[in-house]
Amino acid sequence: MTTRETDFLVIGSGIAGLTTALSLAHHGNVIIITKSSEEACNSYRAQGGIAAAIGEGDSARLHLEDTLRTGVGHADGDSVEMLVQMGPEIISLLADWGTPFDRNETGYALAKEGSHSKPRVLHVTGDATGKGIIDSLLLKANQHPSISFVSHTMVVDLMMEDGECIGVYAADPDHGTTQYVAHYGVVLATGGCGQVYQYTTNDLVSTGDGLAMAYRAGAALTDMEFVQFHPTALHLDQNPMFLISEAVRGEGAVLVTEDEVPFMKKYSDWGDLAPRDIVSRAINQETTHGHRVYLDARQQKDSFASRFPTIFATCMEAGIDPRVDLIPVTTAAHFLMGGVKTDRTGRTTIPRLYACGEVACTGVHGANRLGSNSLLEGAVFARKVAQSLSSLSRKTFTTLQGADESLRLCNNKQNEDQWKQQIQQLMWKYAGITRTKDGMEQGLKELKSISLQLPSSCLESQNMLQVAQVILESALWREESRGGHFRSDYPETIEIWASRQYTVEEK
Ligand SMILES: Cc1cc2nc3c(=O)[nH]c(=O)nc-3n(C[C@H](O)[C@H](O)[C@H](O)COP(=O)(O)OP(=O)(O)OC[C@H]3O[C@@H](n4cnc5c(N)ncnc54)[C@H](O)[C@@H]3O)c2cc1C
Repeated sequence: MTTRETDFLVIGSGIAGLTTALSLAHHGNVIIITKSSEEACNSYRAQGGIAAAIGEGDSARLHLEDTLRTGVGHADGDSVEMLVQMGPEIISLLADWGTPFDRNETGYALAKEGSHSKPRVLHVTGDATGKGIIDSLLLKANQHPSISFVSHTMVVDLMMEDGECIGVYAADPDHGTTQYVAHYGVVLATGGCGQVYQYTTNDLVSTGDGLAMAYRAGAALTDMEFVQFHPTALHLDQNPMFLISEAVRGEGAVLVTEDEVPFMKKYSDWGDLAPRDIVSRAINQETTHGHRVYLDARQQKDSFASRFPTIFATCMEAGIDPRVDLIPVTTAAHFLMGGVKTDRTGRTTIPRLYACGEVACTGVHGANRLGSNSLLEGAVFARKVAQSLSSLSRKTFTTLQGADESLRLCNNKQNEDQWKQQIQQLMWKYAGITRTKDGMEQGLKELKSISLQLPSSCLESQNMLQVAQVILESALWREESRGGHFRSDYPETIEIWASRQYTVEEK
């Protein structure tokens, strides 16, 4: 078994991990461990853009109000204040680091998205914002002498000593288990858990590993019932599903039924630009009544191809021409508002363990995330984590406990996929857009029975199972509906629940 030492250990190479690493690199050596290729992450898949109040007539105050309203009274005001105040400086930082944001004659081109009161979403090559940001961060990080990458390597568990996190155990198919120890601390930037659902826009790497390993180590998870379902994934049988960005509706596209009848005005004064939870439930209603749902972007004519080149190309490949055809869409799990509980500097409840990006719950999204606030959150809190972590004292290690030699990646991919599918199907059925007590109890029962049979070597499935259990338990606890969490047996949003959080810690 090999041991590697470093000053800072960052798990994940999305926007949160890369921004943390680049911000820490002048304080010491950084190792970034990432499960698949360096660019396999949700950040890379982001289309619409990154929000910041930089436009004329816009302000941090308006961005704050939109974020709080969309979060349905559950967001943490101070964290949101930090997010929106730091928006403009994060855009400058990313641009300095090489992100080629789209421009027009007045400056940065700003798009409008659902529930934003102003155009404030910056983008790259129209609809390839994540690729634009990640390509530039990866280039910079790969050139940095203090940063090294370990890719295609899955972190399996956290190494703990005297209640502190001192490193991680990682497994890769070629080298077995390696322990990585960090003199300052470990940063979880492992992203979300969309893959616990049957239908999702999330990359295959998003199996909730960071959430599960933090939980096993005793860190608190919170707000796990709040899962965001995106209203407009392209309706094809794919995993992950291809997203049709909300920005397409921002440019005037309208949701319609198969007979071309628009329906969103029935559900919200914001119409097609209502918050995502409302639009997703509306689509659910329409499909429950036997309709099929489409996005009508035909009014954008030829400008569609230039404004949304990636979406245009993908639709054309699928035989759908957005200039003349309706685009079939459906809902899909998209984002986790909850996560590993952190303070505003990214500290978790375990000393020397930090978290940022989608794996963390900083409280900025409340019960429902405002579109394009997630890339911003990833970068803002990465900066905070780097600031806080670099001020810790350096820890030296005399003896190190041995790694668990039994850690091995599942070597039966097909077998693991069957386990994953069982979890994904039951989560879609029982913890999806509409939930009930009976359904969630049944879901927990079925998970229990899977847990009795699931081989311990199926590491991702074990993580998915643990995260699924926490989502169901949290959702059962919240006897109201709010944002991404909707219960048909408790359909009302109840004031006293706004400030309550379900926090779980493994004893
Ligand atoms: C299709 C799509 C479009 C989106 N569009 C937008 C948008 O336009 N604007 C916006 O703000 N948000 C958008 N989002 C949400 C946003 O992209 C994500 O929330 C955000 O990028 C998460 O960043 P992250 O760095 O936390 O995680 P990710 O970018 O997902 O990165 C996680 C990293 O952790 C690694 N990892 C995971 N587990 C392990 C492990 N066990 N060991 C080692 N490495 C591990 C992964 O390999 C990956 O490198 C979109 C999401 C999707 C799926």
